Amino acid sequence: MRDVALLARYTQMSETELVTAIQQAKQSLGRSVTILGHHYQRDEVIQFADYRGDSLELLRRAAQIEEARYIVFCGVHFMAETAAILCKPEQVVIQPVIEAMCPMAHMANVADAERAWEELSALWPGKLVPITYQNSTAALKAFVGRRGGAVCTSANASKLFKWAFQKGDHILFTPDEHLGTNTALAMGIPSEEIGIWDPLHPPKPESLARCRIVVWKGFCYVHTAFTPEEVDEVRRKYPGALIIVHPECVREVVAKADLAASTSGIVQAVERAPKGAVIAIGTEWHLVHRLQQEHPDKTVIPLHHSVCVNMAMTRMPHLLYVLEGLVQGEVRNVVSVDPETAQWARLALERMLEAS
Ligand code: SF4
Repeated sequence: MRDVALLARYTQMSETELVTAIQQAKQSLGRSVTILGHHYQRDEVIQFADYRGDSLELLRRAAQIEEARYIVFCGVHFMAETAAILCKPEQVVIQPVIEAMCPMAHMANVADAERAWEELSALWPGKLVPITYQNSTAALKAFVGRRGGAVCTSANASKLFKWAFQKGDHILFTPDEHLGTNTALAMGIPSEEIGIWDPLHPPKPESLARCRIVVWKGFCYVHTAFTPEEVDEVRRKYPGALIIVHPECVREVVAKADLAASTSGIVQAVERAPKGAVIAIGTEWHLVHRLQQEHPDKTVIPLHHSVCVNMAMTRMPHLLYVLEGLVQGEVRNVVSVDPETAQWARLALERMLEAS
């Protein structure tokens, strides 16, 4: 929030005043604006979303928006960047808090990826295919697009790994060690064939000679906070509970859970569960809390209270700040990607959309 005078005004507004002002701004802007909200956003923000979803659902949605000139993306920066890459040229993507970033997305930069790529390509006679998680910068997506690779999300990672193995012999997966490892293990790839590339202390390439997949040593602090002991504790307290965790959790947690599922997979599993079911979930707390509210006939509990503070940065005043700007003819907090980066990143995203 760069406009200090406005910030002062918004922080003095009551919750009711903020809700009314946002509703009025939305009404006045009509179909010229579409608000997208990620599942991990606060309730105070998600209540205004025209569409809510996980990364894959929202990027598909961003590519399909026809009427709106402005797409307000309530999420973290890589998501808004992806919307800017996939939307129509005349559309503008706005992020209410432009500083809201995903730390994991910044654990892999292009220079480090280039080094890993060169050393691993020289190591194996077979072809190396890069796959990057959607939770990565546009620059890294472009790096992958240029080298014949694709993006994946937690909802389609195994499909994209299979796609990569049809195209080549080895995968370099960035930036999440845990999603990469859990996906490879679920596909039956043994541990000895899964290597780790630590960009701060790059391994000797020869040590990875047997690997079919090399995963980047990045992580999500929200999901790696869950422990196997917490899973054991829930089993003790709630025998018969269904335990679902996100595949960004460490493999020991995934191994003890009943199901590892993407964000949309978790939502669907709760919807499908019978009345009276007890479901313990290892993912971001705002989503778990919302599922509790929306399914009062089931007991939905978090493995523990793990919050993404980066997602939680967006509050009603920030949303009002960008919407009021539009009402007044001022476009605030625009997210854009340079054309060359966008072109290659789009290719990597399109490969994912075709393969999934
Ligand atoms: S939950 Fe984890 S992966 Fe998602 S935005 Fe937050 S830090 Fe990044």
